Amino acid sequence: MDRAENAVLHTYNRFPVVLERGEGVRLYDLDGKEYLDFGAGIAVFALGYGNKAYNQALKDQVDKLIHTSNLFYNMPMTEAAEKLLKASGLSKVFFTNSGTEAIEGAIKAARKYAWLRDGSTDHEIIAMKHSFHGRSLGALSVTGNAHYQEPFKPLIGGIRFADFNDLDSVKEQITEKTCAIILEPVQGEGGIYPASREFLQGLRSLCDEKDILLILDEIQCGMGRTGSMFAYQDYEVEPDIMTTAKALGCGVPVGAFVLNEKTAQNSLVPGDHGTTYGGNPLACRAVSKVFDLFEEEKILEHVQKIAPYLEKKLDELVEKYDFLTERRGKGLMQGVVVSGRPVGEIINKAIENGLFVLSAGTDVLRFVPPLIITEADIDEMAEKLERSF
Ligand SMILES: *Cc1c(COP(=O)(O)O)cnc(C)c1O
Repeated sequence: MDRAENAVLHTYNRFPVVLERGEGVRLYDLDGKEYLDFGAGIAVFALGYGNKAYNQALKDQVDKLIHTSNLFYNMPMTEAAEKLLKASGLSKVFFTNSGTEAIEGAIKAARKYAWLRDGSTDHEIIAMKHSFHGRSLGALSVTGNAHYQEPFKPLIGGIRFADFNDLDSVKEQITEKTCAIILEPVQGEGGIYPASREFLQGLRSLCDEKDILLILDEIQCGMGRTGSMFAYQDYEVEPDIMTTAKALGCGVPVGAFVLNEKTAQNSLVPGDHGTTYGGNPLACRAVSKVFDLFEEEKILEHVQKIAPYLEKKLDELVEKYDFLTERRGKGLMQGVVVSGRPVGEIINKAIENGLFVLSAGTDVLRFVPPLIITEADIDEMAEKLERSF
């Protein structure tokens, strides 16, 4: 830990744990201590650690070819893109290396779409308060958190913020310059707030009416976490642009922005956008294998079956402890609001007791386990959490 602090820029207050290996829903530190993982590397490791078929696919690809650049075609990129389109119902994919880059691409595609339509270079985007879209300057500009933004101003211009789940508040921010509305169907970092049906469907109608692009950030809530492949599918709403990352590669750094046909035909063309690594065969082999394993292991069905049990267990805790005031969430993306006690202290105690849980916002315990958890894992989590209280 001292060596890391000496060498790595101190931008994280890390927990005093050095992780070495993982197996299923469990992680082990250098001393061999076991942790039940309800964080999944921040909603990344959906398939659990040490999945043999996934690991083998990556090993095979390492021996074949790791990188090509986008000057050439490669098969893993092609297959990963086809599977992502099939899963999302959308039309064209651009692969990135992270979530924040997927957001950057989505913003550029939206601005280009609007520019092609009216030639103006002064377009606006509406984002939500308490949103999180990433740390690069464009993504930070649409992140509704003053604390993250303040030291890095000026950010990109033309961003307006509205209240999540309040359609009137969005309408108030619309001008003739609005080119896109961006939001997470379930807000993650901001505190686990699912969008209401009326809100998301209302936004879709508003966007259709005014030729505004709807950008849905599925980086955290997508890839099966809420029980459908992408959270919007449960709302019967289709985005014009979707961003994905986190569980997309289950640990290999990869993201994507995905466009519907209308947006793909009227936005980015050669010369507009690029990346050296994006679409890299190693990362895309991971994506491709993740989609296969989701089908083979019936991950969506499992999430739909197991999530109500997690909800029930968390509801029981909220019922039992006065300082837990509310549970909210969707599928295996759950938050419990803590009142009058620092969330950080509970998390530290949980770590001592061999359990990883995350925080979200300032007062929410966040549960985003690998999607393969069982009822026994949930029971063990609740027991360890109670001991930590
Ligand atoms: C994590 C996250 C991002 C940023 O992804 P990075 O890979 O960390 O750049 C963007 N949007 C949402 C909703 C996220 O949860």
